[in-house]
Amino acid sequence: MDDPSRAARRIRSLLPVLVVLCALAQLGAVLGVTGFVVDATSSTSQRAHDRVFGSPGQPSTNADEQHANARRIAIAALLERRSAAFLSRDREAFAATLDPQDAAFRQTQVGVFDNIAEVPFAGWEYEIVTPGAFELSAARASALAAPTFTAQVDLLYRITGHDVTPVRVPQYLTFVLRSGEWFLAADTDGAAAGMRTPTQLWDLGPVTVVQGTHSTVLGIGTRAVLRRFAQDADRAAPAVSGVWGQSWPGRTVVVVPATQAQMARLLGAEPSKYARIAAVTTGERGASASAAPADRVIVNPDAFRELGDLERRVVMVHEITHVASRSFTRSWTPTWLSEGFADYIGYLDSAQTMRTAAPELRRDVKAGKVPARLPTDASFETTQEELPQAYEMGWLACKLIAERWGRDKLVELYRALGAEPPPGVGAPDPPSALASAMVSVLATNPDAFTKTWIDYLRTQAE
Ligand SMILES: [Zn+2]
Repeated sequence: MDDPSRAARRIRSLLPVLVVLCALAQLGAVLGVTGFVVDATSSTSQRAHDRVFGSPGQPSTNADEQHANARRIAIAALLERRSAAFLSRDREAFAATLDPQDAAFRQTQVGVFDNIAEVPFAGWEYEIVTPGAFELSAARASALAAPTFTAQVDLLYRITGHDVTPVRVPQYLTFVLRSGEWFLAADTDGAAAGMRTPTQLWDLGPVTVVQGTHSTVLGIGTRAVLRRFAQDADRAAPAVSGVWGQSWPGRTVVVVPATQAQMARLLGAEPSKYARIAAVTTGERGASASAAPADRVIVNPDAFRELGDLERRVVMVHEITHVASRSFTRSWTPTWLSEGFADYIGYLDSAQTMRTAAPELRRDVKAGKVPARLPTDASFETTQEELPQAYEMGWLACKLIAERWGRDKLVELYRALGAEPPPGVGAPDPPSALASAMVSVLATNPDAFTKTWIDYLRTQAE
């Protein structure tokens, strides 16, 4: 049992790492680099299909076009063989799709094929999106010494039990024609033109899979280490449902890279960016579970190694709160509410006070530096010096609502604010959306609430 001061220090030490990028507002950027792009509409697919096979009723007008069509059909067939080999775990058939003259690339690719052996895929397919997406350098073309073709080809995959719609990953591929047959020659040639194929977990090493009751953990590490993350997620999910309710899938994909540097690679970021971040949740604001791939909680294993049981629990509950509430987290949901709500549920069972869990803000308030307003979304950017205070303000605003109005009202406020606008009505203006939700759910308005909150901060700081 920890003595109070030790417990306080532990929670204190947790705060910087709680600066979780799960601020869903950041997702646009994250999505772009990790490929969690959710726009696989049927019209997009049809367009891509048309590009591959040519639209029906449009006969080729000349030999060049016929040649291009034949090439596209051959490459589409190659990609289909590759998908089938991945899904049926046919290593030989997979290797047969790779450039026979590039031993190093073959070895890397077969390594990736082996790395995913345990991963339960419900789907794995390719879609040619942009034929001729980039030019090969003269040196590269000359090294290949054969006809080539480049393309952006999206990989669409689904993890069994989680992804209703596929995760879409853009890949920038080079194909080469050898003795009349097309092969995959590279996935890195587009990088020079800024077209970098995003790194997936299985590019980093053999993936071990641990199934929990409420989670699937995909990780690079020992089964024992990964099992602990499954236990964390399994304990966190019911805690979240206890407040938020059952209206979410109740299961989470937890991704555990081996190092913080690997985490940064998965997120397409500089290695140092996540030094003080315990975990990140990726997903799409406002997307319902039936219309988007499942969220991923991506863990920083280096940060987690420093955490005690309580801290691990707080972080996981925080992240899974974002997962559960994402379909009600909108572009107009203020970050103080989404982060404060996640911290509120995260801290719920450990009786945290301002002294233990909001020391920076408490120090400021006691020194007469009392905030005049709720923190803006910009206050939650990871570069902000007073980032801890922003999280603490959000947490205390949600704690205040739960104490004065009731926990159910806090949930109701979140849901009312995040409800789908009526058909034909666009995204509301954020301040008026908040005002209207506060009036209807709490019978107060943002100005009056802010005054109550400032008084609350003063009282709690004592
Ligand atoms: Zn968060």
